[in-house]
Amino acid sequence: LEARKPFISGNWKLNPQTKEEAVKLAADISATVTDDSPDSDVALFVPYVFIEAAMASAGDSLMIGAEGVCPEIKGAFTGAVSTAMLDSVGVKWALAGHSERRVIFGESDEYINGQCLKLIEQGMNVMLCIGESESEYNQDLAGAVCAVQLKKGLAGISKEDMSRVAIAYEPVWAIGTGKVATPEIAQSVHATCRSILADMYDQETADATRILYGGSVTPESVDDLMKQEDIDGALVGGASLDAEKFGRIINFQV
Ligand code: PEP
Repeated sequence: LEARKPFISGNWKLNPQTKEEAVKLAADISATVTDDSPDSDVALFVPYVFIEAAMASAGDSLMIGAEGVCPEIKGAFTGAVSTAMLDSVGVKWALAGHSERRVIFGESDEYINGQCLKLIEQGMNVMLCIGESESEYNQDLAGAVCAVQLKKGLAGISKEDMSRVAIAYEPVWAIGTGKVATPEIAQSVHATCRSILADMYDQETADATRILYGGSVTPESVDDLMKQEDIDGALVGGASLDAEKFGRIINFQV
């Protein structure tokens, strides 16, 4: 069985504020990937408007993805961006289901499922973000929430297509709060998510699917997280805006 290749990714959200800053940040991050870096996939999810400039600036050492996509392919959807448009500029990955999209923009599991399906249909890859809120965590509902979000988000995605899906487990209480989940908590939910995938598909598919952790990952916390058996990478918000910090995360040590 092929080992799961580590996947380190950054989510720039509504940052930085100018194209010049985006170009410099992408170049500075790309320079941290060296021959000595772990053999990982590295991606940055950036605002649409910066995608092409960031790609040109980053070169081959990292992939530039989109922070989201519209589940419609064309027509009267003002402000939307389609998978075909992203594909045509060379984008291979997009996020779906980030908690900020779910909460602030009201994206439902059905809408998120539409995004996943359209990305797969277009021959692209999707990083599906899932995770429970703080009150759900306190009610011991992390596994149940992840099960619902995985089953609804991945509805209609075949076992074969799962090779183009990565999961990001991001407990909402850990995103942007500085409250990183302990490696033990994260490992335990990741193992639960893997067993849900085994129920939905089979053990082989579950064992081959990368599950990333997200939520206040820093240079200080990345190594212990990456040592956990079921943690295959990281999705990093705040620290991905700092090339030195994100460079240290890319060069994690296990
Ligand atoms: C995120 O936006 O996916 C995230 C995990 O943010 P942060 O690292 O800032 O908590």
